[in-house]
Amino acid sequence: MLPVAFLLTMLATGCSVQAALSGLTADRAAAALQTAPSPDYTPSGVRIHRLALGASNAYLLENQAGLYLVDAGLPLTDGLILTRMEELGRDDLRLIFITHAHIDHYGAAAAVREATGAPIAVHRADAAAMAEGNTELGMVRDWEWSEDTLVPLLEDTIQIDPVEPDILLDDGASLAEYGLDAVVLHTPGHTPGSSVLIVDDAYAFVGDLISANGKPHAQSMYAQDWPQLADSIARVQALDLAWAYSGHGDEPSSGETLRTLEARFADEPQQ
Ligand SMILES: [Zn+2]
Ligand SMILES: [Zn+2]
Repeated sequence: MLPVAFLLTMLATGCSVQAALSGLTADRAAAALQTAPSPDYTPSGVRIHRLALGASNAYLLENQAGLYLVDAGLPLTDGLILTRMEELGRDDLRLIFITHAHIDHYGAAAAVREATGAPIAVHRADAAAMAEGNTELGMVRDWEWSEDTLVPLLEDTIQIDPVEPDILLDDGASLAEYGLDAVVLHTPGHTPGSSVLIVDDAYAFVGDLISANGKPHAQSMYAQDWPQLADSIARVQALDLAWAYSGHGDEPSSGETLRTLEARFADEPQQ
């Protein structure tokens, strides 16, 4: 009798240890999720797809209500965007959100609209530049002569098809009516209408406000208004963000990285 009782005890102990272990694993997984939210899915189940379009990134956001495109690459990248939609097996693009009126972010917007019927939304302060086919680069940092020579040369050289937006956005605009839990944060400086799209209060699509080329850093090349840009970065840093997705660079930046990056430059008046 004793060996049987012993075996039963062992089995019971084994089972309870196993149960305790699996409980522990689940707890650990939950803790890990709490400390490091997924960069691929938001808490409400929006799936984030990065589209590497060569010169810049676009993002396809996917939920049950539809697809949403954040930025639209250089001209002629519409094929890559539409192919990715096909791979996802979806043709229900509901909105094209443009972070700002630079050619590497709205270049293929009109072609994607043509193919899908989705409207183009941009902050109203960048609407005119897009509608005129402009890509105003502003001042290149530390190249004083650039404002007078290089930038106008670039701006005159690059010929872009005008893109008339369908929806003009303001700070605080909600995309809920399109089926996405997202709000627009106006973050001017790089361009007057530069805006960040914040999904589920914590997943920010930051355009060129923050670059993830190499070590994540504040926009340091082009701005139309540097002090304004610094204020916009500070505004984004004050939010409790989980991830930031940049227009350039391969990886999203964590909220922690974002909060600690240098937002102002030494040669800039502190405000
Ligand atoms: Zn830009
Ligand atoms: Zn860019």
